[in-house]
Amino acid sequence: MNKIEHLGIAVKNLVEANEVYSKLFNQEPYKLEVVESEGVSTSFFKVGENKIELLEATNPDSAIAKFIEKKGEGIHHVAFDVDDIYAEMHRLKKDGFIILNEEPKKGADNKLVCFVHPKSANGVLIELCQDIK
Ligand code: ZN
Repeated sequence: MNKIEHLGIAVKNLVEANEVYSKLFNQEPYKLEVVESEGVSTSFFKVGENKIELLEATNPDSAIAKFIEKKGEGIHHVAFDVDDIYAEMHRLKKDGFIILNEEPKKGADNKLVCFVHPKSANGVLIELCQDIK
């Protein structure tokens, strides 16, 4: 794994959260993207070299809706950049981590992504992501 690619923050209302974070960072999000397959609307901010993703559920069955129901708004996942997502998934599976999807999925921001269950990472949902070239 190379570095933290972004932090994902679950929000109830993306429009309102964009206003808050635009003020916080003193800049607008550089990207808004709906990932229908994941049931999320997202926005991305760049803060120096770092990225923050805000996520709002687009339907009540979305993982984000369930997360907010259980825990409220807040940090939802930590995403790590990897060179070869297939190799990392294989390595982590072999080491006993619970990978939430069998195959990488197309995520927001032109990435292939997969998730590691928080149960196997001390309560933190881990996202692996690889740039789609
Ligand atoms: Zn993410």
